[in-house]
Amino acid sequence: MNLLDLASAALADFERTATAPTPAPATPNPAPDPATAPADPCTLPTCEQCRNLGQRDRDGFRRCAAATRGELPYIASKRYAPVPDQGRRCEGYAPKPGDPDQRTGRERWPELWEAKQ
Ligand code: SF4
Repeated sequence: MNLLDLASAALADFERTATAPTPAPATPNPAPDPATAPADPCTLPTCEQCRNLGQRDRDGFRRCAAATRGELPYIASKRYAPVPDQGRRCEGYAPKPGDPDQRTGRERWPELWEAKQ
């Protein structure tokens, strides 16, 4: 076999692998079970949607009224100023009047409260 034959064979091999269809995975990834999948932070309510988020203080922070009242003793100080637009599961969540889902945080995520009893 001369050099030209070797180059032709290498080119043919390259073309065969480059144009071959990609094999499908043996087992596709199963869809997550909604009952056990972790909550998507993008779909969770934010503090901005909660009645407990106050107006800006003189220092520029917006404080959580539930934390100030001492209702979140295990997770926040009384001067807690949460990130307003981050979705979260919070036992102190209180929906605003226009929210179609009027369940409180304790009703939505009872496991948060029950774990501390
Ligand atoms: S109670 Fe929870 S959800 Fe509501 S403002 Fe405070 S930290 Fe945010």
